[in-house]
Amino acid sequence: MNYKSSLRLLTLFATYCLSNAALAETQILKASTIITMDEKNPRAEAVAFDTVTKKITAIGSLSEVQAKAPQAKVTDLGATVLMPGFIEPHGHPATAGLITQPPTIWIAPYVGYKTWDDVKAKILKEDAQATAGMPLIFNGVDKLLQQAPTPTRDILDALTPSGRPIIIFDNSGHALYFNTATTKLLGWENATPPKNPLGGSFGRNQDGTSNGVAQEVPAIMPIATPFMFKAIPNPLLSVAKFYSYMSSFGITSSSELTYNTGQYKAYLALASSADTPLRISVYHMSTETDAAAEAKWPDSSMVRKNGIKLWADGTPWLGTVALSFPYLDNKTTRTAQILLGPLAEKGMNYTRGQLDQILDKFVPLGYQMSFHCNGDVGFDVVMDAYESALAKHKLLGTDHRWRVEHLGAARYDQFKRAASLGITVSMGPFQYIYWGDLLDGTMFESAIGSQWQAVGDAFRADARPTFHNDGPVSPPNVLLNIQSMVTRTTNSGKVHGANQAVTMDQALKAVTINAAYQLKRDQEVGSLEVGKFADFVELSADLTKVKPLEITDKVKVQGTWVGGKKINLTKFLEEMSAIDASQHQGLPEASLSTRHKH
Ligand SMILES: [Zn+2]
Repeated sequence: MNYKSSLRLLTLFATYCLSNAALAETQILKASTIITMDEKNPRAEAVAFDTVTKKITAIGSLSEVQAKAPQAKVTDLGATVLMPGFIEPHGHPATAGLITQPPTIWIAPYVGYKTWDDVKAKILKEDAQATAGMPLIFNGVDKLLQQAPTPTRDILDALTPSGRPIIIFDNSGHALYFNTATTKLLGWENATPPKNPLGGSFGRNQDGTSNGVAQEVPAIMPIATPFMFKAIPNPLLSVAKFYSYMSSFGITSSSELTYNTGQYKAYLALASSADTPLRISVYHMSTETDAAAEAKWPDSSMVRKNGIKLWADGTPWLGTVALSFPYLDNKTTRTAQILLGPLAEKGMNYTRGQLDQILDKFVPLGYQMSFHCNGDVGFDVVMDAYESALAKHKLLGTDHRWRVEHLGAARYDQFKRAASLGITVSMGPFQYIYWGDLLDGTMFESAIGSQWQAVGDAFRADARPTFHNDGPVSPPNVLLNIQSMVTRTTNSGKVHGANQAVTMDQALKAVTINAAYQLKRDQEVGSLEVGKFADFVELSADLTKVKPLEITDKVKVQGTWVGGKKINLTKFLEEMSAIDASQHQGLPEASLSTRHKH
């Protein structure tokens, strides 16, 4: 070998070593403090991670971490506090993107539209400002919280003097309202609706013309699908915006609880960016013909299929839940057209025999089961069905982590039973935060209503509860959930059932390690430990050091890291906008047909 060629080899070798070193780069972040959510090592000062494996390699004091990674670059985050990225264990990002993010206009009570007058003013303003003739979608009119009338065709025509088509989704997901221009867009002659589909209905005036109301998904779909095709030019981008919205609240892992195969491509595309802000676990709806089929994405740490979802009962805001006690009879409950009940087992969407059949179909395939259930009677039926399936399939005492969702009316003894069976519970603080003042004394007798979302009991029973916002149902505001559950305070500042308040440590577990456990990701995320992914939320202050009632005022989310990468939401949205929108035009149909009873 001559001198020149050996020099060239040496250069090549050096380049190889350098590039390998660059690939194997270890980074260290130093924060004012790190809340690890690891009980063996609750606080730290610095964390090191490998940017290739994306996992934590050391965590402790800065000197301890530097001793393990002497070559690593240290980034000092100053006053920033680091925590494990928050986890939203129950959401519906695809639907949420389409019906809460622009170009859709979100008019729910908790995003600033407290009364029906606020909603009316917003519709008039948008009608005056938007491009002439452009169809507009509104979402979130709430008869209970806004005390809104049914927004009929006449009412909506008066609110759209420009004559543009508009539709409004009811906050419950069970009704759609529209104006005369929409009946023209749909090609309904003389504003006359088609025959009612099975399971849904079109409201009619005495002369047979539409009154501007469609009830239930089978009637909502034939209006909303062609409407969205015109009003939402880029459905994938809408979902990407909801990802960004969740990320802005500090969330790094979430879930899709109304998965169907029509959404596969979208979740693939959303995971394709290096700045994808969320890991997603999907639960396939049991009613889909291919629900049992495997679904795999290229990087299972980003998107994976966990299990099977079904709706055991309905929504507390319409009275379609399996409760043992009635609603109170008054103007508020009547305006909202709530079924006063008690419906008891009649509130169930399935008989016990049907639940057993569904469990027999999916359990042998190894899927984690997830049942929506708000009522106390419903919870008993679900646990009876779970217990018998666990026994039948020899899963009692195993690590199955089957889930029950929402549990507005669940009691201590029921949580205790769930814990003894290894069943995990996901609670909805948003029900208490936004409806709590009505639940206590207006919807139900105080002894019952004040205890709605008995999160304290769930912890006392060791049921490992988690918190969720059920997007699109409420904004994914994790810090507000923590603040409200620690202080047991509603949105108006009132306290109902102070006995159900939780400790700060419990609230933090509910949105980190408990949620990771529920999603079967606790070996990867949920706490900051060596070997787990470097998923962080950056907070402006230590939320354990501020007064609990001031958390949302004093603590700001500054950003998130996923797999050791600081997430750039602008870049993520740019990359998603660059994807050919026509590939995702089927997303509204796939996602709206799945809107459920919250
Ligand atoms: Zn849900």
